[in-house]
Amino acid sequence: MTIREAWAAGAQALRQGEVATESPELDARVLLCWVLKTDLTGLLRRYSEPFPDQESVTWARVLAERAGGVPVAWLVGHQEFMGIEFLVARGVLVPRADTETLVEAALELLSPLSQEKLRVADVCTGTGCVGLSLAASARWRQSWELWLTDLSPEALAVARANTVSLASGLQVKVVDSDLLAEVPGELDLIVSNPPYLTTEETRHRKASGWQEPELALDGGEDGLELVRRLLEESFGALVEGGWVLLEAADAQMEKIGALARLVGFSETRLWRDLSGRQRVLGACRGGFLSGL
Ligand code: GLN
Repeated sequence: MTIREAWAAGAQALRQGEVATESPELDARVLLCWVLKTDLTGLLRRYSEPFPDQESVTWARVLAERAGGVPVAWLVGHQEFMGIEFLVARGVLVPRADTETLVEAALELLSPLSQEKLRVADVCTGTGCVGLSLAASARWRQSWELWLTDLSPEALAVARANTVSLASGLQVKVVDSDLLAEVPGELDLIVSNPPYLTTEETRHRKASGWQEPELALDGGEDGLELVRRLLEESFGALVEGGWVLLEAADAQMEKIGALARLVGFSETRLWRDLSGRQRVLGACRGGFLSGL
């Protein structure tokens, strides 16, 4: 069997797996690159070579795991986000392209800023991808104090590992914290991709073979339990003119905007993802013209 034939058979196995895979060809290619320790160009170049016998057990194992619903990023151990490779491990939410909207929105708010010292928190950080990629792209990051918080031990370990490899020289604190509980106040910016699926939606995903942890997905009965608490805590923690930016689903945005105003935020803004769905809501504490 050639490497190309192994890829085709792998893609076919994923197409017929118990859990529907959205992109069987691509998944098989990424997994095959990992098994053969090569990149896409290397793989294409080796397509006509025989598939190495000594790798067949590993190849069969990762295909079976993927067909059973294990995310590709968990199997290969990394995922690209904002052009940066983040370590990912089992039990930790895999960074999504949609979440790049959150980083873009934060960068947009930060761009006119002349202030150097900023205190920024990424709440429910998971791999740390939002806070760390934001810090990687922002001006003045050397004088930032960045807090990454999560409750999951798996997420905290991965966020720490990503901090070590991607944020050397920056002031980053990875803390085990229920939302902002362990973060001292006076923050300039809070970003978060909290769990916002409803319990029903989470149950559905689980039933269809989804493996990512409920802790990262389930936002309670209406999906907004964490969002509600985070808006309240953020209002107390932000400086005048500071912003909280939250990822959520399009259909939830109207309600979240109303909640933010109820909590006392004076201005809200929305950002859309690449598919045109409302994906990020920003709420500013302070007057209309105050900005950051
Ligand atoms: N956007 C994610 C998804 O649909 C949900 C993650 C979350 O709840 N923050 O998979």
